[in-house]
Amino acid sequence: MPKAIALYSGGLDSTLAILVAMKQGIEVTAVTFLNHFGCDISDKSSCSKDPFSAAEKFGFTVKLCHLADKFIDIVKNPKFGHGKNMNPCIDCRILMLKEVKEFMLMTGADFIITGEVLYQRPMSQRRDTFPKIDREAGLKGYVLRPLSAKHLPLTIAEQTGLVDRERLYGFHGRSRKPQIALAKELGLTEYPAPAGGCLLTDPLYSYRLHELLEHNETPSIKDINLLRLGRHFRLPSGLKIVVGRDEKENETLQSLRDTGDVLLWVEGVGSPITIICGGAEEDEIKTAAAFCARYSDAKKQPSVEVTVEKNTGNTTVNAVPANNTVLEQYRVVQKDIKGEK
Ligand code: SF4
Repeated sequence: MPKAIALYSGGLDSTLAILVAMKQGIEVTAVTFLNHFGCDISDKSSCSKDPFSAAEKFGFTVKLCHLADKFIDIVKNPKFGHGKNMNPCIDCRILMLKEVKEFMLMTGADFIITGEVLYQRPMSQRRDTFPKIDREAGLKGYVLRPLSAKHLPLTIAEQTGLVDRERLYGFHGRSRKPQIALAKELGLTEYPAPAGGCLLTDPLYSYRLHELLEHNETPSIKDINLLRLGRHFRLPSGLKIVVGRDEKENETLQSLRDTGDVLLWVEGVGSPITIICGGAEEDEIKTAAAFCARYSDAKKQPSVEVTVEKNTGNTTVNAVPANNTVLEQYRVVQKDIKGEK
């Protein structure tokens, strides 16, 4: 039986691509890639994608693979540039294909499948981009895109008769109607809404990341994880302050705390957890305390007692809640992008 390895996000297109191949008797092993900028597939409240439910229903195997530092490197320095935001889509596809190439060779699979649809995305899903991506990954002729195959050159799997081109598709463009119709035909009833998932396509997140890299070329995983939560402020010294927006973020901020970080909160009222990343001077602690007070339920008080927790113990500081002018002065946000409160 011919064997294929599929790039599998858990979304509609990649699931369909697998099902189309399986209908032709191909044994498919799917690989779902994780990185620090995607949704957490183990957290159902943050990610609608579930790579395992379709796999169970239709009988294919899913392997998870974390791209870790390799992915961070291409985000910082993509050979083929970023998209509209910090998304290095072409480099990202190349990296994932390089990884599955290794897996293909290791397992003796015959070719690779992706759910890409011609012209669905402006950067990585163009007629001239597909061959470039395949070539760069060292996979010329080995990548079958079942949903758009009829618009693309013959692959080795088609040439050698492992796959019947007539039973592949010629989808193109941004409409999902053909995919939705095919899903119905194949009995695929549950799939996530399009987009979402990759934070690098989000303008607010991308600006935060860009700003972080400007201050720190080699950010830690904690620095990167912090980007997805809270309100972010940068002091003139370069120190970063993050203020939680709800209980869940407060808990996460506490869990991300490093030894040298300072935590602040207002005791006895609804209060954000505020974190200062790294050792802070007294005036910086006072500024963070003013931010913390401003977002607490005591924000209308003329002066608020804020608890300050360092690794040496707890103290308190009295702070006047910060006004909007001060907040906007230090807030990490591209001035023409709205959205953070
Ligand atoms: S949107 Fe994100 S995950 Fe998808 S190809 Fe682009 S960089 Fe990679």
